[in-house]
Amino acid sequence: MVINFGAGPAKLPEEVLIEVQRDLLNHGQSGISVMEMSHRSKEYADIHSKALQAVRDILNVPDNYKVLFMQGGGTGIFSAICMNLMKTGTADYCVTGTWSTLAAKEAAKYGKVNMVFPKPEKFTTIPDQSSWKLDPNASYVYYCDNETVNGVEFPFIPDTKGVPLVVDMSSNMLSRPFDITKFGLIFGGAQKNIGPAGITVVIVREDLIGNAMPTTPTILDFKVTCANNSLYNTPPTFIIYVMGLVFEWIKRKGGLDAMHENAITKSKLIYQSIKNSNGFYTCPVDVRYRSRMNVPFRAGSASGDESVESEFLKGAEKLGMVQLKGHRSVGGIRASLYNAVSVEDAIVLANYMNEFYNSHKS
Ligand code: PLP
Repeated sequence: MVINFGAGPAKLPEEVLIEVQRDLLNHGQSGISVMEMSHRSKEYADIHSKALQAVRDILNVPDNYKVLFMQGGGTGIFSAICMNLMKTGTADYCVTGTWSTLAAKEAAKYGKVNMVFPKPEKFTTIPDQSSWKLDPNASYVYYCDNETVNGVEFPFIPDTKGVPLVVDMSSNMLSRPFDITKFGLIFGGAQKNIGPAGITVVIVREDLIGNAMPTTPTILDFKVTCANNSLYNTPPTFIIYVMGLVFEWIKRKGGLDAMHENAITKSKLIYQSIKNSNGFYTCPVDVRYRSRMNVPFRAGSASGDESVESEFLKGAEKLGMVQLKGHRSVGGIRASLYNAVSVEDAIVLANYMNEFYNSHKS
Protein backbone atom coordinates (compact mmCIF):
# COMPACT_ATOMS: atom_id res chain seq x y z
CA MET A 1 0.00 0.00 0.00
CA VAL A 2 1.28 3.47 -0.91
CA ILE A 3 0.03 6.68 0.71
CA ASN A 4 0.85 9.82 -1.20
CA PHE A 5 1.36 12.90 1.00
CA GLY A 6 2.71 15.01 -1.88
CA ALA A 7 2.05 18.75 -2.04
CA GLY A 8 1.08 18.76 -5.70
CA PRO A 9 0.58 17.28 -8.13
CA ALA A 10 -1.04 15.29 -5.40
CA LYS A 11 -3.08 12.20 -4.60
CA LEU A 12 -6.31 11.75 -6.53
CA PRO A 13 -9.23 9.71 -5.22
CA GLU A 14 -8.70 6.06 -6.08
CA GLU A 15 -12.33 5.74 -7.19
CA VAL A 16 -11.70 8.45 -9.77
CA LEU A 17 -8.54 6.80 -11.07
CA ILE A 18 -10.38 3.50 -11.43
CA GLU A 19 -13.11 5.23 -13.47
CA VAL A 20 -10.45 6.89 -15.64
CA GLN A 21 -8.76 3.54 -16.20
CA ARG A 22 -12.06 1.83 -17.03
CA ASP A 23 -13.00 4.42 -19.66
CA LEU A 24 -9.51 5.20 -20.91
CA LEU A 25 -9.88 3.54 -24.31
CA ASN A 26 -13.58 4.03 -24.87
CA HIS A 27 -15.52 6.86 -23.30
CA GLY A 28 -19.25 6.25 -23.23
CA GLN A 29 -20.35 4.90 -26.60
CA SER A 30 -17.79 6.94 -28.52
CA GLY A 31 -15.28 4.16 -29.14
CA ILE A 32 -12.43 6.60 -28.46
CA SER A 33 -10.64 8.04 -25.46
CA VAL A 34 -11.49 11.52 -24.15
CA MET A 35 -7.88 12.33 -25.04
CA GLU A 36 -8.70 11.77 -28.71
CA MET A 37 -11.92 13.77 -28.89
CA SER A 38 -12.25 17.13 -30.61
CA HIS A 39 -12.82 19.89 -28.11
CA ARG A 40 -15.67 20.98 -30.40
CA SER A 41 -17.40 17.57 -30.35
CA LYS A 42 -20.80 17.00 -28.76
CA GLU A 43 -19.35 14.40 -26.36
CA TYR A 44 -16.68 16.77 -25.12
CA ALA A 45 -19.11 19.70 -24.89
CA ASP A 46 -21.09 17.64 -22.41
CA ILE A 47 -17.99 16.86 -20.28
CA HIS A 48 -16.94 20.52 -20.37
CA SER A 49 -20.26 22.07 -19.43
CA LYS A 50 -20.86 19.51 -16.65
CA ALA A 51 -17.46 20.31 -15.10
CA LEU A 52 -18.14 24.06 -15.18
CA GLN A 53 -21.59 23.54 -13.68
CA ALA A 54 -20.22 21.24 -10.95
CA VAL A 55 -17.93 24.05 -9.72
CA ARG A 56 -21.00 26.29 -9.45
CA ASP A 57 -22.98 23.60 -7.60
CA ILE A 58 -20.27 22.59 -5.13
CA LEU A 59 -19.21 26.14 -4.26
CA ASN A 60 -22.69 27.62 -4.53
CA VAL A 61 -21.47 30.25 -7.01
CA PRO A 62 -23.96 33.12 -7.41
CA ASP A 63 -25.24 34.06 -10.90
CA ASN A 64 -23.19 37.26 -11.07
CA TYR A 65 -19.92 35.31 -10.96
CA LYS A 66 -18.34 33.54 -13.92
CA VAL A 67 -16.41 30.28 -13.68
CA LEU A 68 -13.44 30.07 -16.07
CA PHE A 69 -11.02 27.25 -16.82
CA MET A 70 -7.66 28.81 -17.69
CA GLN A 71 -4.16 27.64 -18.53
CA GLY A 72 -0.73 28.85 -17.50
CA GLY A 73 -1.02 27.52 -13.94
CA GLY A 74 -1.44 29.57 -10.79
CA THR A 75 1.64 31.48 -11.96
CA GLY A 76 -0.11 32.52 -15.18
CA ILE A 77 -3.04 33.81 -13.17
CA PHE A 78 -0.69 35.94 -11.02
CA SER A 79 -0.10 37.95 -14.22
CA ALA A 80 -3.65 37.66 -15.56
CA ILE A 81 -5.00 39.26 -12.37
CA CYS A 82 -2.84 42.35 -12.85
CA MET A 83 -3.57 42.62 -16.57
CA ASN A 84 -7.32 42.28 -16.06
CA LEU A 85 -7.95 44.05 -12.77
CA MET A 86 -5.26 46.67 -12.09
CA LYS A 87 -7.38 49.56 -13.34
CA THR A 88 -5.98 52.20 -10.98
CA GLY A 89 -2.37 51.14 -11.57
CA THR A 90 -1.95 50.04 -7.95
CA ALA A 91 -2.88 46.99 -5.87
CA ASP A 92 -2.56 45.84 -2.27
CA TYR A 93 -0.65 42.62 -1.56
CA CYS A 94 -0.66 40.66 1.73
CA VAL A 95 2.54 38.64 1.68
CA THR A 96 2.42 35.65 4.03
CA GLY A 97 4.58 33.09 2.25
CA THR A 98 6.37 31.87 -0.84
CA TRP A 99 3.42 32.03 -3.20
CA SER A 100 2.13 35.48 -2.30
CA THR A 101 5.74 36.72 -2.53
CA LEU A 102 5.87 35.50 -6.12
CA ALA A 103 2.45 36.98 -6.92
CA ALA A 104 3.53 40.40 -5.56
CA LYS A 105 6.78 40.23 -7.51
CA GLU A 106 4.85 39.54 -10.70
CA ALA A 107 2.41 42.39 -9.98
CA ALA A 108 5.28 44.88 -9.68
CA LYS A 109 5.81 44.43 -13.43
CA TYR A 110 2.38 45.88 -14.11
CA GLY A 111 1.88 48.63 -11.55
CA LYS A 112 2.51 49.82 -8.03
CA VAL A 113 2.39 47.16 -5.33
CA ASN A 114 1.43 48.31 -1.87
CA MET A 115 2.61 45.84 0.77
CA VAL A 116 -0.26 45.73 3.26
CA PHE A 117 2.22 44.89 6.02
CA PRO A 118 6.02 44.63 5.97
CA LYS A 119 7.16 41.31 4.51
CA PRO A 120 7.73 39.02 7.52
CA GLU A 121 11.24 37.64 7.96
CA LYS A 122 9.86 34.16 8.44
CA PHE A 123 6.53 33.04 7.08
CA THR A 124 5.04 31.64 10.25
CA THR A 125 2.13 33.95 11.04
CA ILE A 126 -0.39 36.49 9.74
CA PRO A 127 0.03 40.03 11.10
CA ASP A 128 -2.99 41.27 13.02
CA GLN A 129 -5.56 42.89 10.72
CA SER A 130 -5.59 46.06 12.86
CA SER A 131 -2.00 46.73 11.71
CA TRP A 132 -2.75 46.35 7.98
CA LYS A 133 -2.32 49.44 5.81
CA LEU A 134 -4.73 49.25 2.90
CA ASP A 135 -4.47 51.75 0.05
CA PRO A 136 -7.96 53.21 -0.62
CA ASN A 137 -6.91 53.67 -4.27
CA ALA A 138 -5.94 50.02 -4.76
CA SER A 139 -7.67 48.16 -7.59
CA TYR A 140 -7.82 45.04 -5.44
CA VAL A 141 -6.45 43.43 -2.29
CA TYR A 142 -4.59 40.17 -2.91
CA TYR A 143 -3.80 37.36 -0.48
CA CYS A 144 -3.03 33.63 -0.50
CA ASP A 145 -5.52 31.66 1.60
CA ASN A 146 -3.15 28.75 2.15
CA GLU A 147 0.59 29.00 1.72
CA THR A 148 1.49 25.53 0.49
CA VAL A 149 5.21 25.77 1.26
CA ASN A 150 4.97 27.43 4.66
CA GLY A 151 1.78 25.86 6.02
CA VAL A 152 0.09 29.18 6.89
CA GLU A 153 -3.69 29.28 6.31
CA PHE A 154 -6.15 32.12 6.82
CA PRO A 155 -8.93 31.19 9.27
CA PHE A 156 -10.78 34.41 8.29
CA ILE A 157 -11.70 36.39 5.19
CA PRO A 158 -10.00 39.82 5.28
CA ASP A 159 -12.15 42.94 5.41
CA THR A 160 -11.13 45.25 2.53
CA LYS A 161 -13.65 48.08 3.02
CA GLY A 162 -15.26 47.48 -0.36
CA VAL A 163 -12.11 47.07 -2.46
CA PRO A 164 -12.36 43.82 -4.52
CA LEU A 165 -10.70 40.95 -2.71
CA VAL A 166 -8.60 38.54 -4.79
CA VAL A 167 -7.53 35.21 -3.35
CA ASP A 168 -5.20 32.40 -4.31
CA MET A 169 -6.87 29.20 -3.12
CA SER A 170 -4.61 26.88 -5.11
CA SER A 171 -3.97 24.57 -2.19
CA ASN A 172 -7.22 24.74 -0.25
CA MET A 173 -9.99 25.29 -2.79
CA LEU A 174 -12.81 22.76 -2.34
CA SER A 175 -11.60 21.90 1.16
CA ARG A 176 -14.17 24.04 3.01
CA PRO A 177 -17.29 26.07 2.27
CA PHE A 178 -16.92 29.87 2.06
CA ASP A 179 -18.93 32.90 1.03
CA ILE A 180 -18.09 33.69 -2.60
CA THR A 181 -19.78 37.09 -2.37
CA LYS A 182 -16.95 38.38 -0.18
CA PHE A 183 -14.58 38.11 -3.16
CA GLY A 184 -13.94 39.80 -6.48
CA LEU A 185 -11.89 36.87 -7.74
CA ILE A 186 -10.93 33.42 -6.48
CA PHE A 187 -8.50 31.13 -8.24
CA GLY A 188 -6.93 27.75 -7.69
CA GLY A 189 -4.67 25.47 -9.69
CA ALA A 190 -6.15 22.01 -10.11
CA GLN A 191 -3.19 19.92 -9.00
CA LYS A 192 -4.00 19.64 -5.28
CA ASN A 193 -7.69 19.20 -4.46
CA ILE A 194 -9.20 19.39 -7.92
CA GLY A 195 -7.44 17.08 -10.37
CA PRO A 196 -4.27 16.63 -12.41
CA ALA A 197 -2.10 19.67 -13.23
CA GLY A 198 -3.06 21.74 -16.25
CA ILE A 199 -6.05 23.91 -15.37
CA THR A 200 -6.59 26.84 -13.07
CA VAL A 201 -10.17 27.43 -11.94
CA VAL A 202 -10.99 31.14 -11.81
CA ILE A 203 -14.22 32.48 -10.32
CA VAL A 204 -14.65 36.17 -11.07
CA ARG A 205 -17.38 38.71 -10.40
CA GLU A 206 -19.00 39.85 -13.65
CA ASP A 207 -18.40 43.57 -13.15
CA LEU A 208 -14.62 42.99 -12.94
CA ILE A 209 -14.50 41.47 -16.42
CA GLY A 210 -13.82 43.62 -19.50
CA ASN A 211 -11.04 45.94 -18.34
CA ALA A 212 -7.98 44.07 -19.58
CA MET A 213 -4.88 46.09 -20.47
CA PRO A 214 -4.57 46.34 -24.28
CA THR A 215 -1.37 44.27 -24.20
CA THR A 216 -3.03 41.35 -22.38
CA PRO A 217 -2.46 38.09 -24.29
CA THR A 218 -5.81 36.96 -25.67
CA ILE A 219 -5.52 33.70 -23.78
CA LEU A 220 -5.28 35.53 -20.43
CA ASP A 221 -8.13 37.95 -21.09
CA PHE A 222 -11.03 37.05 -18.78
CA LYS A 223 -13.54 38.59 -21.20
CA VAL A 224 -12.41 36.39 -24.09
CA THR A 225 -12.32 33.25 -21.93
CA CYS A 226 -15.75 34.03 -20.55
CA ALA A 227 -17.32 34.87 -23.93
CA ASN A 228 -16.02 31.56 -25.29
CA ASN A 229 -17.10 29.42 -22.36
CA SER A 230 -13.42 28.59 -21.65
CA LEU A 231 -13.12 27.13 -25.16
CA TYR A 232 -11.39 29.97 -27.02
CA ASN A 233 -8.52 27.67 -27.87
CA THR A 234 -7.89 23.97 -27.24
CA PRO A 235 -8.21 23.36 -23.51
CA PRO A 236 -6.53 20.39 -21.76
CA THR A 237 -9.62 18.29 -22.39
CA PHE A 238 -8.45 15.20 -20.53
CA ILE A 239 -7.66 17.21 -17.39
CA ILE A 240 -11.10 18.79 -17.45
CA TYR A 241 -12.66 15.36 -17.80
CA VAL A 242 -10.76 14.05 -14.75
CA MET A 243 -11.69 17.21 -12.82
CA GLY A 244 -15.34 16.49 -13.61
CA LEU A 245 -14.96 13.04 -12.05
CA VAL A 246 -13.32 14.56 -8.95
CA PHE A 247 -16.24 16.99 -8.62
CA GLU A 248 -18.70 14.08 -8.70
CA TRP A 249 -16.58 12.26 -6.08
CA ILE A 250 -16.69 15.31 -3.78
CA LYS A 251 -20.48 15.45 -4.13
CA ARG A 252 -20.82 11.72 -3.35
CA LYS A 253 -18.60 12.11 -0.28
CA GLY A 254 -20.79 14.83 1.24
CA GLY A 255 -19.49 18.03 -0.39
CA LEU A 256 -17.43 20.76 1.20
CA ASP A 257 -18.73 20.27 4.73
CA ALA A 258 -17.43 16.70 4.72
CA MET A 259 -14.10 17.78 3.15
CA HIS A 260 -13.68 20.43 5.84
CA GLU A 261 -14.51 18.06 8.68
CA ASN A 262 -12.00 15.52 7.36
CA ALA A 263 -9.34 18.20 6.89
CA ILE A 264 -9.69 19.24 10.52
CA THR A 265 -9.55 15.65 11.76
CA LYS A 266 -6.50 14.78 9.64
CA SER A 267 -4.48 17.90 10.44
CA LYS A 268 -5.31 17.65 14.16
CA LEU A 269 -3.87 14.13 14.21
CA ILE A 270 -0.54 15.33 12.80
CA TYR A 271 -0.36 18.48 14.96
CA GLN A 272 -1.14 16.34 18.00
CA SER A 273 1.77 14.00 17.23
CA ILE A 274 4.01 17.05 16.96
CA LYS A 275 2.72 18.40 20.27
CA ASN A 276 3.10 15.08 22.08
CA SER A 277 6.76 14.75 21.08
CA ASN A 278 8.22 17.15 23.68
CA GLY A 279 10.02 19.20 21.01
CA PHE A 280 11.32 16.25 18.98
CA TYR A 281 9.04 17.44 16.16
CA THR A 282 8.49 21.15 15.72
CA CYS A 283 6.12 23.12 13.53
CA PRO A 284 7.19 26.77 13.31
CA VAL A 285 3.74 28.10 12.40
CA ASP A 286 1.69 30.18 14.85
CA VAL A 287 -0.99 27.80 16.18
CA ARG A 288 -3.73 30.25 15.16
CA TYR A 289 -2.77 30.02 11.49
CA ARG A 290 -1.72 26.42 11.05
CA SER A 291 -2.84 24.95 7.76
CA ARG A 292 -5.34 22.11 7.52
CA MET A 293 -3.79 21.17 4.16
CA ASN A 294 0.01 21.29 4.48
CA VAL A 295 1.78 20.54 7.74
CA PRO A 296 5.50 21.44 7.59
CA PHE A 297 7.62 20.21 10.47
CA ARG A 298 11.19 19.52 11.52
CA ALA A 299 12.47 16.46 13.39
CA GLY A 300 15.31 15.83 15.79
CA SER A 301 15.67 19.44 16.98
CA ALA A 302 13.84 22.76 16.64
CA SER A 303 15.86 23.73 13.57
CA GLY A 304 15.79 20.15 12.26
CA ASP A 305 18.43 17.46 12.32
CA GLU A 306 18.90 16.48 8.69
CA SER A 307 20.19 12.99 9.43
CA VAL A 308 17.18 12.27 11.66
CA GLU A 309 14.85 13.70 9.01
CA SER A 310 16.45 11.61 6.32
CA GLU A 311 15.99 8.50 8.46
CA PHE A 312 12.37 9.52 9.10
CA LEU A 313 11.70 9.87 5.36
CA LYS A 314 13.40 6.57 4.52
CA GLY A 315 11.42 4.76 7.22
CA ALA A 316 8.19 6.33 5.97
CA GLU A 317 8.91 5.21 2.40
CA LYS A 318 9.53 1.67 3.59
CA LEU A 319 6.02 1.74 5.00
CA GLY A 320 4.63 3.13 1.74
CA MET A 321 4.34 6.80 2.74
CA VAL A 322 5.75 8.87 -0.11
CA GLN A 323 6.43 12.51 -1.02
CA LEU A 324 6.83 13.67 2.58
CA LYS A 325 9.99 15.69 1.95
CA GLY A 326 9.63 19.40 2.76
CA HIS A 327 9.82 22.04 0.02
CA ARG A 328 13.40 22.59 -1.15
CA SER A 329 13.35 26.18 0.14
CA VAL A 330 12.51 25.25 3.75
CA GLY A 331 13.71 21.65 4.09
CA GLY A 332 12.40 19.27 6.72
CA ILE A 333 9.19 17.30 6.32
CA ARG A 334 5.78 18.30 4.98
CA ALA A 335 2.60 16.28 5.15
CA SER A 336 0.01 17.41 2.61
CA LEU A 337 -3.47 16.32 3.56
CA TYR A 338 -5.63 17.17 0.55
CA ASN A 339 -9.16 15.87 0.03
CA ALA A 340 -8.08 12.52 -1.43
CA VAL A 341 -5.94 11.71 1.63
CA SER A 342 -8.22 9.82 4.02
CA VAL A 343 -8.45 10.05 7.81
CA GLU A 344 -7.07 6.48 7.88
CA ASP A 345 -4.04 7.64 5.87
CA ALA A 346 -3.40 10.41 8.39
CA ILE A 347 -3.70 7.90 11.24
CA VAL A 348 -0.99 5.75 9.63
CA LEU A 349 1.32 8.77 9.47
CA ALA A 350 0.53 9.94 13.00
CA ASN A 351 1.23 6.43 14.35
CA TYR A 352 4.52 6.29 12.49
CA MET A 353 5.49 9.71 13.89
CA ASN A 354 4.72 8.52 17.42
CA GLU A 355 6.69 5.29 16.99
CA PHE A 356 9.63 7.08 15.40
CA TYR A 357 9.71 9.55 18.27
CA ASN A 358 9.51 6.79 20.88
CA SER A 359 12.43 4.97 19.32
CA HIS A 360 14.56 8.14 19.11
CA LYS A 361 13.87 9.99 22.33
CA SER A 362 16.86 10.27 24.55
N1 PLP B 1 -0.25 29.29 -5.51
C1 PLP B 1 -0.11 28.29 -4.62
C2 PLP B 1 -0.73 28.45 -3.27
C3 PLP B 1 0.58 27.13 -4.96
O1 PLP B 1 0.71 26.13 -4.07
C4 PLP B 1 1.13 27.02 -6.26
C5 PLP B 1 1.86 25.80 -6.68
O2 PLP B 1 2.06 24.85 -5.98
C6 PLP B 1 0.99 28.11 -7.14
C7 PLP B 1 0.29 29.22 -6.74
C8 PLP B 1 1.60 28.07 -8.51
O3 PLP B 1 0.94 27.17 -9.31
P1 PLP B 1 1.55 26.66 -10.70
O4 PLP B 1 2.72 25.80 -10.39
O5 PLP B 1 0.40 25.93 -11.31
O6 PLP B 1 1.92 27.87 -11.50
